[in-house]
Amino acid sequence: MSAPQSTIPVAKPVLGEEEADAVRRVILSGWVTQGPEVAAFEKEFAAFVGSEHACAVSNCTTALHLALMAVGVGPGDEVITVSHSFIATANAVRYCNAVPVFVDIEPDGYNIDPSLIETAITPRTKAILCVHQLGMPCDLRSIVEIGKRHSIPVIEDAACASGSEILWEGRWEKIGKPHGDIACFSFHPRKVVTTGDGGMLTTANPDYDRKFRLWRQHGMSVTDAVRHGSKQVIFEDYDELGYNYRMTDLQAAVGRVQLRRLPELVAQRRRLAEQYCEQLSMIAGLAPPIEPDWARSNWQSFCVRLPDAADQRVVMQALLDQGISTRRGVMNIHLEGAYSGLSSHRVLTSLTRSLSAQQQTIILPLYAQMTVPDIDRVVGALRAALAEATAGAAGVQRAMDIAVA
Ligand SMILES: *Cc1c(COP(=O)(O)O)cnc(C)c1O
Repeated sequence: MSAPQSTIPVAKPVLGEEEADAVRRVILSGWVTQGPEVAAFEKEFAAFVGSEHACAVSNCTTALHLALMAVGVGPGDEVITVSHSFIATANAVRYCNAVPVFVDIEPDGYNIDPSLIETAITPRTKAILCVHQLGMPCDLRSIVEIGKRHSIPVIEDAACASGSEILWEGRWEKIGKPHGDIACFSFHPRKVVTTGDGGMLTTANPDYDRKFRLWRQHGMSVTDAVRHGSKQVIFEDYDELGYNYRMTDLQAAVGRVQLRRLPELVAQRRRLAEQYCEQLSMIAGLAPPIEPDWARSNWQSFCVRLPDAADQRVVMQALLDQGISTRRGVMNIHLEGAYSGLSSHRVLTSLTRSLSAQQQTIILPLYAQMTVPDIDRVVGALRAALAEATAGAAGVQRAMDIAVA
């Protein structure tokens, strides 16, 4: 009997001794939240993406909330975005008592279709919230141009896009420079780099950055670092409603190590994705993800579209039976119970592409520690599962044809 094959998870964070040492150093330093490590992480992240400012917060959802507040989104306002995203994208709009307006995705990808944005604009539109879904940059050039033409700010949900790049005026630039007005990142363990939980806001606008810093710390007029360093007694004020959206120094210390690893992690993921694309292109009817020539994905998730005849659940189960974990493609927010209320959102057109993407796509395993034999195993299992699934479907079709005849 052959040895049982190891299981292949869908994702796996890269965390090691250096991260553990960094946390130990912070604990023994005695300063454990929003202190020197957070400040250093912000500086290093800003330098990495090429941004003027970077402000660390507790996660990307809180980052999105502050970004929308900063550009003035308030009760009754509308924010144009996609339903085909993680639910946090639209939830952040609702935290502002504003209404997400959902438009469809592109025909051959999983990002917002820029050609649908203008028809969704009304006098109430206060922001365009575009998503770099699965780490693949969206068509920012078109989106930013629409925003400029209508004087509507562009916020990038870059939760998945740490280390992704876009060709901008002839140069490769990191997502988060930002190319819109504000970009929001996540450091949840499902993303390419993690701090357990964590988020970051980048912007070129010093006024936005000042607001983020105020609001993340209860609206407190004086930071702990300033008060700690002062020779004079300082009393703080709270003039605006704030939140507790702080990042701890324990998280930031991990983030600094992860950020140093990021270029190599992305390079490794890009090598693996290339292997996948090459091998998957030989499976009839299967559509590997498309990377436009102006985009370089960090391949946070590798999403494939199954042939029409293949049932998503059957294929995923067949892979799981072989010890290979997959996930369904991206969800559609408007289908969830939390969005069943009439006032919770607006849907511009039928979101047919979003719906078919959710039903026909699966996310294959991809993580930096993966090997080429692992890729071979996934592709082999997928090929076998599809052969069986489509043969089954063809059989059913034949039986139906016979019955009809
Ligand atoms: C992960 C994710 C978020 C939420 O990030 P958190 O840090 O978990 O709050 C938001 N938007 C998208 C597109 C995501 O993938």
